[in-house]
Amino acid sequence: MKSASTYRAVQAVSKGKLELTEKPLVDPPAGHVRIRVEACGVCHSDSATVEGILPIAWPRVPGHEAVGRIEVIGNGVEGWKVGQRVGVGFLGGSCGYCEYCRDGDLVNCINQGYTGVQQDGGYAEVMIAKASGLIAVPDDLSSVDAAPLLCAGLTTFSALRNSPVRAGDLVAIFGVGGLGHLGVQYARRMGFEVVAIDRGGGDRAELSKKLGAHHYIDSSSTDVAKALQALGGAQMVLATASGGKAVAAALGGLRRGGVVISLGATDEPIELSAFDLLFRQLGVDGALTGTSKAGDATLRFSAMSEVAAMIETMPLEKAAEAYAKMMSGKARFRMVLTMT
Ligand SMILES: [Zn+2]
Ligand SMILES: [Zn+2]
Repeated sequence: MKSASTYRAVQAVSKGKLELTEKPLVDPPAGHVRIRVEACGVCHSDSATVEGILPIAWPRVPGHEAVGRIEVIGNGVEGWKVGQRVGVGFLGGSCGYCEYCRDGDLVNCINQGYTGVQQDGGYAEVMIAKASGLIAVPDDLSSVDAAPLLCAGLTTFSALRNSPVRAGDLVAIFGVGGLGHLGVQYARRMGFEVVAIDRGGGDRAELSKKLGAHHYIDSSSTDVAKALQALGGAQMVLATASGGKAVAAALGGLRRGGVVISLGATDEPIELSAFDLLFRQLGVDGALTGTSKAGDATLRFSAMSEVAAMIETMPLEKAAEAYAKMMSGKARFRMVLTMT
């Protein structure tokens, strides 16, 4: 039986192993808040914690798509209220004093922890979060719907919003999965001509059109570069599928001056020719989620323009099952843990 002084959490304890545990409630330190978590998305990057891909001091609670209500506010926190619904994403909150912060570049803060990596995340009924990392959740977005937008949504929304593409430009989303199915929706609603690219025809093509794609390219039967060039060449390709080869393949489909933004976390090298960079002025870039303010905008834009992740929910105690389903690639498309 749960007492008021403890809460349930699911933590990674060794490589590949998640277990349900009970943790003591503690007050938030200065600059932090304590959140009663209502929902938390399961993201592929949680494998950094569960499989120990990043250096991890186990036990560690994963989860960086957490939504809940503030229940205690630590000393020195301004601008947030008890009872307010907030989100916590991958970036755990900037420091405000490093040279990047002082220059306004909060994403690259060198004193910023990753949620669920250096500090416990949202696979729990309660979590502590740094106030500078909090994201405001609009009333008309449910906690379950908001959760996957805090990483998968913010990453794709922010990459599109910060790119040099303009309304009417041809934008390709490479991979219609956890990230890509949101990328297609955002790109359409931002006013781009949208190409979705994935393996296979039928279902995936139909889904892509339903999400808002104007065109669909089946990469298993079509030369992606040629097909994009036949449409005039993409100004930008959002490569959401992991793998350096996908990024390299996309380069051939760009128009001059176009850019590939790689969102799939992988250490696979990207092979490209300096000729492409020189004579076609192509660019290759990455994007790491976004600022907490960009998180606010992601949620508001999603609510306003009816962008939603396709989700499957599971209760917190089934976190290991939800994680396994996500890792197997069988989730359609985002798993979300619920706490009540
Ligand atoms: Zn994530
Ligand atoms: Zn900083």
